[in-house]
Amino acid sequence: MTIKYADRINSLPPYLFAEVDRAKQQKLKEGVDIIDLGVGDPDLPTPEYVIDALCKAAHDPETHQYPSYSGSTVFRDAAAEWLKNRFGVKLDAEKEIITLIGSKEGIAHIPAAFVNPGDYTLCPNPAYPVYGIGTTLADGKPYDVPLLAENGFKPDLSSIPSDIVKKSRMLFINYPNNPTAATAGKEFFKEVVDFGNDNGIIIVHDNAYSEMTYDGYRAPSILEVPGAMDCCIEFHSLSKTSNMTGWRIGFAAGSADIVAGLGKVKMNVDSGAFLAVQLAAIAALKNSEAFKQKMSRIYQERRDALLVGLKALGIEVEKPKATFYVWAPVPGKRPSIEYAKYLLDKAGIVATPGVGFGKYGEGYVRFSLTRPVERIREAVERMKKL
Ligand code: PLP
Repeated sequence: MTIKYADRINSLPPYLFAEVDRAKQQKLKEGVDIIDLGVGDPDLPTPEYVIDALCKAAHDPETHQYPSYSGSTVFRDAAAEWLKNRFGVKLDAEKEIITLIGSKEGIAHIPAAFVNPGDYTLCPNPAYPVYGIGTTLADGKPYDVPLLAENGFKPDLSSIPSDIVKKSRMLFINYPNNPTAATAGKEFFKEVVDFGNDNGIIIVHDNAYSEMTYDGYRAPSILEVPGAMDCCIEFHSLSKTSNMTGWRIGFAAGSADIVAGLGKVKMNVDSGAFLAVQLAAIAALKNSEAFKQKMSRIYQERRDALLVGLKALGIEVEKPKATFYVWAPVPGKRPSIEYAKYLLDKAGIVATPGVGFGKYGEGYVRFSLTRPVERIREAVERMKKL
């Protein structure tokens, strides 16, 4: 029998990172000393107090059963407390917060709650690919909204044709941004919230990098803006900010109706995050401010070291204020895949070609600050020799 994939699977974009990964594996086989600045996964361990809390919780048989669908009350209360202390936003933990098995899970599922076949979602481009993929899996149509350098990598909402706006159910945004490292202030969020409320469009703000900020910058929450609770849901993740990518824990907060819609999808497809992980994540949230300061110092040193190397290659990049990414223009207008291969072949450095994040990412490569500073300095020395 011939196995046929559904159209929605066939219409998913090709996984462009696979080619770079294949090339990297080949170099490793040849014995090349690779410096991998491609992955967006912290190289440093989860803090001890989180691991201790997990061990303690895992010994309690009450954590071994199915968890509650929308998340334990204690975890959601801790998330509400964190949002209040961090952003001054007061939410009803029961109705306005939902626990996620990592924020990717929630982002991928939310279109299923609100998008009918043929509806549009407005997706930034370049972007974390899951906004478009979740839309496609819900039989919706992702509409690319370009993030251009001249607009500070923010979407120009006035450029979206009105017939598309009319057929759109959601707008995805993400600041601090992956892959561009751009940040956004409350004025921009207000413009987005007004756009959502005026056009009946749900605003999905992905705030996965809110705690990865430098030089005294503090990223806001969209929920701080008046009117946000009528049209917004904001995704938070413990993955990057508490070095917990493998633990699969995050949460979403915002309008009770939007949270309930996402909850309805989740109730039917998963059974919640492991309770012991939720209890451990409370320890992470409680210590998040001190841990953020510690991590920021480390990433800041790495960032500054990398920028020296890029300058040596003739690439001037504005110092990113947030995220652990550096979004660098490709010199000489070469395709980004070709340039990433050049860095790998000539210097053993892995960087992610910008086009992997969408066609408007062409002309850039993304470097992740996920290697120790000594390795980044080594990468810089190699760049200087190029
Ligand atoms: N959002 C953005 C912008 C990301 O870059 C990532 C991970 O790379 C995620 C969400 C998903 O994070 P997690 O599912 O680990 O919470």
